[in-house]
Order: sequence, then C-alpha cells, then structure tokens
Amino acid sequence: MTRWVEETLHPNFRCALKADRVLYENQTEHQHLIIFDNETFGRVMMLDGVVQLSTTDEFIYHEMMSHVPLFSLGAERAKRVLIIGGGDGGVMREVLKHKSVERCVLVDIDRTVVDLSKEHLPEVSQGAFDDPRAEVIIADGVKYVAETDERFDAIIVDSTEPVGPAAVLFTRGFFEGCARALNKPGVLITQNGLPFMHPDHLRGTMELFSTIFADRATYLVDQPTYFGGPFALAWASNDTSLRDTPLDEIAKRHAASGIPTRYYTPDVHKAAFALPGYVAKLSV
Ligand code: SAM
Repeated sequence: MTRWVEETLHPNFRCALKADRVLYENQTEHQHLIIFDNETFGRVMMLDGVVQLSTTDEFIYHEMMSHVPLFSLGAERAKRVLIIGGGDGGVMREVLKHKSVERCVLVDIDRTVVDLSKEHLPEVSQGAFDDPRAEVIIADGVKYVAETDERFDAIIVDSTEPVGPAAVLFTRGFFEGCARALNKPGVLITQNGLPFMHPDHLRGTMELFSTIFADRATYLVDQPTYFGGPFALAWASNDTSLRDTPLDEIAKRHAASGIPTRYYTPDVHKAAFALPGYVAKLSV
C-alpha cells in the first residue's frame, strides 16, 4: 500500500510526500525522526512532521547558509565557524570546502540525527564529520553559546522550526549568547522559515536582532521541499560594512576558492538580499 508522509507544520495547509521505502522511523530522545526515499526528491529526512532535507535539493540551502557569510568575511577572516543544529552535516560539508577554515564546531542536541545521517545520508556530509578540522558536540546550542570560551568568525544556526527543542534557538538569550561568542567582525546566520506562512517567525528574529547587532538583514532562497513560498535566512553582524562587500570582490573570492557551487553564485549572493515588499516589511 502506498504510504504518504504528511507535513504537519502549517495548521491550515498540508502536503505529503510519497514514501517509496522507509529506512528509519522512530521517536528519538528529542523528536520524531523519519528517513525515507521519494522518487522525485531522493532521500528525505523529516523531524516532528517537517521536511529537514532531501538529497536532491539540500545543496540550495546548505550553500546559501555557508557561502554567503564566509565569502563576505573573506579567506583572511573566515577561520573559525560554529554550527548550531545541522546534524545532517550538510552545512559542515560546505563550510569545510573553505580552505581558510581552521576549525568547525557543530553542536546538535540530538545524537540520533547525527548517527542516522551518517548511516543513511552519507552523500550529505560527504565525510565532513571525519575532517580533522571538525568537532561534533552533542549539546543544547543555547547552553553551548552561553558557556563556551571560544570565539567564532561565523555562527550558522541550521535548526528545526521554533517548536520543540529548537524553540530556544529563537530567543533573546540565545542571540545574546551568539553575539558574545562572535569575533569582530563576525556574522550570525539563522533560518527563519517561510515568511508567507509564518510572518511572525521572521519579524520576531529581526526585532531581536535590532537590539543586539549593529547590522541585520534578510535574504531569500528557493527551496523546492520547503513548500509555501521563498525561505528566509537572517543575517546579523557586529560590523556594518561586511554586508556591503562589493560584488567584484565577492566574485574574486569565489573564483580564488575554487569551490564548485550549484546554486550559489556571487550574483545570487547579492541578489538574495533584494526582498519582495511583503518580506521587507517583516524585516525591519
Ligand atoms: N535544514 C533544516 C531545516 O531548516 O528544516 C534543519 C536541518 S538540521 C537536521 C536541524 C537540527 O537542529 C536537528 O538535527 C536538531 O536536532 C537540531 N536542534 C534542534 N534544537 C536544537 C538545540 N536546542 N540545540 C542544538 N541543536 C538543535
């Protein structure tokens, strides 16, 4: 019998993906985890009824979360990176493509996500977990940023939605912890959901950023498996000039890095910050 796995994120709208084969389904210590195959999207991971990634389109989100901050910093300054969440290893894979990165710490609350991703989604991390520059810590991201003595040039928050274990990753306390753990100049990137479906999600983050960081902005990606319009990523920095790095400089850095990208280009990097009116209104 055909099994359809429903996304249950939105109260008034549901979509479902056909599961041709379920590889794993269980309640972890923190959330419900299912990994299955779908003919169109490839291998799909969902947590608590929300698509986290599919192997056919994850490159979009993972490239844009990683390369926008790191090419803005440039090789001289992009050396130490902290990832909160991201237990599938996709962001870490892209971050470690930057030869300038000397250390990359990934803090995910759920060991099962990391272990099951290694087992069933090896093409996502592509060996990043075994890179000598990488360290994986199983802990709550809030506690980690509050307590660490380390300082990072970029912090990338690749979290689940602001319900369940990730709710704390959208709070003032967490963002203040991130601000404290950033070098200067430093950049924080967070995921902020679908502005059309969840306007308060982006508005709330931007309001908090406005009182904590010198600079803030929203940029957009088109992610086929995040149904409901463009997907928002948020930028915060303690340096107001970083976001203004000229296009030709970004292009020079991208070319010099030799990093092959499929969605990210220097033009897309710049253009992603151009917002439709309804998103700009949430991003004040
Ligand atoms: N790209 C995905 C998205 O936007 O839907 C996110 C992928 S990643 C798998 C999300 C990770 O955030 C999960 O592995 C989850 O365990 C982790 N996470 C949730 N709450 C967390 C917390 N408080 N501290 C650290 N990691 C957390």
